[in-house]
Amino acid sequence: MARELAICRTINDLRSCVKTYRKETGGRVGLVPTMGFFHEGHLSLMRAARQSSGLVVVSIFVNPAQFGQSEDLDDYPRDAERDHEQAGAAGVDVIFSPPVDEMYPQGFETTVNPGSVAEGLCGLSRPGHFLGVATVVAKLFNIVGPDAAWFGQKDAQQVAVIKRIAADLNFDLSIHVCPTVREEDGLAMSSRNVYLSKEERQHAPVLYRSLNKALGMARRGETDTGKIKRAMRRYIASNYLVELEYVKIVDPDSMESLKQIGGPALAAVAAKVGSARLIDNILLPVPAMHESTAC
Ligand code: AMP
Repeated sequence: MARELAICRTINDLRSCVKTYRKETGGRVGLVPTMGFFHEGHLSLMRAARQSSGLVVVSIFVNPAQFGQSEDLDDYPRDAERDHEQAGAAGVDVIFSPPVDEMYPQGFETTVNPGSVAEGLCGLSRPGHFLGVATVVAKLFNIVGPDAAWFGQKDAQQVAVIKRIAADLNFDLSIHVCPTVREEDGLAMSSRNVYLSKEERQHAPVLYRSLNKALGMARRGETDTGKIKRAMRRYIASNYLVELEYVKIVDPDSMESLKQIGGPALAAVAAKVGSARLIDNILLPVPAMHESTAC
């Protein structure tokens, strides 16, 4: 049965919507935070939330606090009408899409600093990015008060940051992580893929293929992360359109670099392809098991 999609633009509206639902049904509330311009990655989170929540809330907020000065805040792709249609079809009940001054009114000063998990990888090239992410997600948790929230493995460091703040700040909710949804040629779906020219789009899957190289080496028993990273870098460097930012192999919870693979390990890459900054990652098998336990 088609549900009616409610659109809330203010915190008060959203709160009264959730409050009424809880009072009337006592059901579970699920939250999927997004910046909109939906693709199958976003929709997979909404469908997962639909399966185990009575009320599914999706936030659409292009959060200025997580963009650096020279980044793509103004150009970030947006299409509210299409998003609403797709969310409705995925079974979402409520869209929360506040204007910026609703989330950051005059006088706003507090930030949430997730600590060392936010410092390496994307935290190095995007200083302040994860403070912005942690702050807005903490606000969304407080505004919506969900029983559970869904995030994508595609943004592995963001997942680690959110798990850290949920534990440290005692948010009473469960965090679910869904697998990365990919195009047929392996490119991780991302709202930013629209920035790619036709030629750049053809070359962009090199990132995923480099991760598969890492996976293959780890499966064959290689535990020396230096060797794996060198092979990945060599492979990416052979593509003239891809400007590598980093290749890392880290502990998926702490985001600390690993010299050897002896337990859970995540290979992660970031690169510029034309004007698009793309990230991707893959969980590597724990040596004794030789099987990935992703999501
Ligand atoms: P964004 O709108 O890019 O902030 O993403 C909103 C949520 O969707 C985040 O939890 C992302 O990790 C998740 N997401 C983005 N792309 C993908 C993808 N390709 N597969 C799975 N989840 C994704």
